[in-house]
Amino acid sequence: MEKFFMIKGGYIITMDSKMNVYKDYTLVISGNTIVDILSNDTAESKYANVEVFTAKDKVILPGLINTHLHTNLIRGFGDDSALYQWHKEVAEAVRRTITPEETYLGALVGYAEAIKSGTTTVLALEKNSEKCYQAAQETGIRARLTPYILDFEDCADTIELNLAYVKKTASPEERVRFWFGFDSFREASPEMIREIVALAKKYETGLHTHSNESVDDVLLCRKRYHKDPIIHLYELGVLSERTVLAHCVHLTKEEKTLMQQTKTKIAHCPTSNIKLSDGAAPIVEYLFQDICVGLGTDGANTKGNYDLFEEMKFAVLLQRIVQKRADALTAPEILKMATIGGAEVLGLSKEIGSLEKGKKADICIMYLRKLHCLPFDPEEGSILISHLVFSANGADVDTVIINGKIVMTNRILQTIDEQKLLFDANEAGKHLIARLKLKGMNFK
Ligand SMILES: [Zn+2]
Repeated sequence: MEKFFMIKGGYIITMDSKMNVYKDYTLVISGNTIVDILSNDTAESKYANVEVFTAKDKVILPGLINTHLHTNLIRGFGDDSALYQWHKEVAEAVRRTITPEETYLGALVGYAEAIKSGTTTVLALEKNSEKCYQAAQETGIRARLTPYILDFEDCADTIELNLAYVKKTASPEERVRFWFGFDSFREASPEMIREIVALAKKYETGLHTHSNESVDDVLLCRKRYHKDPIIHLYELGVLSERTVLAHCVHLTKEEKTLMQQTKTKIAHCPTSNIKLSDGAAPIVEYLFQDICVGLGTDGANTKGNYDLFEEMKFAVLLQRIVQKRADALTAPEILKMATIGGAEVLGLSKEIGSLEKGKKADICIMYLRKLHCLPFDPEEGSILISHLVFSANGADVDTVIINGKIVMTNRILQTIDEQKLLFDANEAGKHLIARLKLKGMNFK
């Protein structure tokens, strides 16, 4: 007999095509799927003797989707460095030194933190991706993992390993699946990129990398290959509707046209771009050109945390500065980018990104009866959307459900021992810092 489970709201912010917000409504789940959305009264009569999760005073929305991140064991170094200096003095040093076990702890921390701030799906570009796979499985997060492949130096992840994990996670029903990818054109030879592109095409997976992150990136590509980065990637076959490029801060008109024509997706990471002084990606322009844009946090080293609520607010504020218009980007538009828009970027919009019948039960439940979210019971649902973007933060997330399973309730993770992780990761992080001889001061 089919077993049901009901979440009795509260407000339900569906993020469906009509942006419907329902008050006093119930979500009905069977297995990992949403099977019904109906008023509380109707649900009570239609579904008798069903397990009920009470969310009467809460706001229920689709789990957020982070379209670009790296997990890290340590943070707080190179705070005042631009991208290339930070990359050389922190990222590369960590990459050469960190052990698989330390990577595993860092991945547990990153995925757990994402869940605790309402994220249910991540697209992650990771080193030691086997260990990250293990961490994603254990935390319960939905993930698309891309190894950090580069051939300018020895690397823990190889094309062979990437292929093995693509095959291992080939079933569409797998919650954690592998894509192909590489770090960036900076550390990947044209030959290797061509090989990766061919495999992604053969196995019909996504492809994930960084591009045009800073002006230095553009200048390096022009110096090395005598062309702009997007042109370089296009000629290598990288651009396609299955490809996600993180950043795309500085694009020429020709590069924008290529992105549009090839339907290549963009992961926008405003906080990391601001912190590294990369510049501001013109995402309002991209959206106007029908380029699909999702929101990402990038690594905690360059953003500080994995809170997509914070990222939504930064994204809106940044576009308002760039465009000098108060309506350049609105709260509903950015919430869309963090939910159904992110699902489109990952090619998963039929499965996740909104709360609708037939979609996977990936759900974020917020408790907003707090001073910073008044009024918490408005007549108009749009006020709640404003709260989510401008007033709330990841710590307001109360419960998270992924693939029909409760992975956090009352802010307590159900899949892993958070206190043990806190201790183990802190100790391991201190050992890593000691080996790296990193100092928490400016590099000036
Ligand atoms: Zn990145």
